[in-house]
Amino acid sequence: MTEPRVIIGASHAGSELAAKLRQLDPSVPVLLLGDEPVLPYQRPPLSKTWLGDPNAAIDPLLIRNAAAYEAAGIAVRPGARVSAIDRAAGRIVLESGESIAYSQLAIATGARARRLALPGAERAEQAPNVHCLRTLADAQRLRPQLEEGARIVVIGGGYIGLELAALSIKRGLKVTVLEAQPRVLSRVTAAQLSAFYEKVHRDAGADVRTGVQVEGFEFASNGSVSGVLWKDAAGGHGCTQAEIVVAGVGVMPNVELAQAAGLTCSHDGIIVDELCRTSDPAIVAAGDCTSRPVPGHTGHFRIESVPNAAEQARTAAATLCGQHQPCHGVPWFWSDQYDLKLQMVGLSRGHDAVAIRGDMAAHAFTAFYLRGGVIIAADAVNRPAEFMLARKWVAAGVRVDPDALADLSVELKRLVAA
Ligand SMILES: Cc1cc2nc3c(=O)[nH]c(=O)nc-3n(C[C@H](O)[C@H](O)[C@H](O)COP(=O)(O)OP(=O)(O)OC[C@H]3O[C@@H](n4cnc5c(N)ncnc54)[C@H](O)[C@@H]3O)c2cc1C
Repeated sequence: MTEPRVIIGASHAGSELAAKLRQLDPSVPVLLLGDEPVLPYQRPPLSKTWLGDPNAAIDPLLIRNAAAYEAAGIAVRPGARVSAIDRAAGRIVLESGESIAYSQLAIATGARARRLALPGAERAEQAPNVHCLRTLADAQRLRPQLEEGARIVVIGGGYIGLELAALSIKRGLKVTVLEAQPRVLSRVTAAQLSAFYEKVHRDAGADVRTGVQVEGFEFASNGSVSGVLWKDAAGGHGCTQAEIVVAGVGVMPNVELAQAAGLTCSHDGIIVDELCRTSDPAIVAAGDCTSRPVPGHTGHFRIESVPNAAEQARTAAATLCGQHQPCHGVPWFWSDQYDLKLQMVGLSRGHDAVAIRGDMAAHAFTAFYLRGGVIIAADAVNRPAEFMLARKWVAAGVRVDPDALADLSVELKRLVAA
């Protein structure tokens, strides 16, 4: 019997890899192993529609249902955690002790929520009202606590923290966001975008505090956290009372399995090339667990997004099937907060100019990021047509005059043609 192609990690990257492998080469069986107890599901709704709707069911979250995997000839095993890769023997070992031979191996182990490194954090993480938001289990635990009038403290003003803040406001909670950096979204957007999002949240009723370091927690007698202790930039100290605390402080790539198997990893992911090959060219990796080259930028980057997981998965499957389909796509991502549909493309780091086109007050604009006159990234708020154009321009490395870009009297298409 042919040994299966084994994929470790059953989520966006793993399920796409499995489907593509079966499409490209149905002669080899595929085994998809995931440690979560459910079939692969979509994570984005966990901080958006699904979390915001107390009655939303799980089935619509599934990327494919059981029948679709069966029809595609993919064996999926939820609840199967892989504890070791034996490259020399061509086998993986499950936590249960079971050993499985593979013909080829793909790693799609993703990322996990970063833990708070604070005094009292370990005790706080045991508290019934302290949460993170990475998995369906996390969202299922948090959702029933999002009751009207409850006070929620969100630690971290990144996308997930802000999406949670927006839906909590909509559900009538009292929201405080504590962000350690001087502005929200500082890692990924320009200062103008941060100021825009801070204003939108404050106008909606959220108490957004920046430059505030969380220092610890106050506990109630039943073990719940009752308050979050913080220090502000001016050296002032305070405590914000809370019925719910959610830490949205980023993620850590799950690289330990690859590392233990001797594959090259950086501090931020399994190193892969544009064909998704790891340092062992017979093993591929895709998605949030990887650090990959990005066209137009030097070095490797870990891209946390569904489109990236899907694109890398398709490339990785092609590589295993002996085809050459390099991962050259420009990263893109989206975030939904209130009535704002934000779509981002490219990596803005290293930009030397930002041109804002449109009307921030009317919640419809695009921020274009330029380096040396070339568009390297864009954040479009409620501007889907400009986002589509920006995707093409970033991929093509289009050169434009930032003043003309910001001038609404200049038609965008004409600008670039010129
Ligand atoms: C709340 C939330 C909202 C998001 N919103 C957006 C959005 O709006 N747009 C967007 O583009 N992206 C969004 N993302 C990011 C996106 O979900 C990730 O980029 C995507 O899930 C990455 O897919 P992945 O398959 O690489 O990794 P993951 O989704 O992390 O999946 C990896 C899987 O592997 C499993 N695993 C790990 N180790 C093992 C092991 N040893 N054995 C077996 N299984 C293992 C993990 O448990 C997990 O199930 C969001 C993420 C979250 C959490």
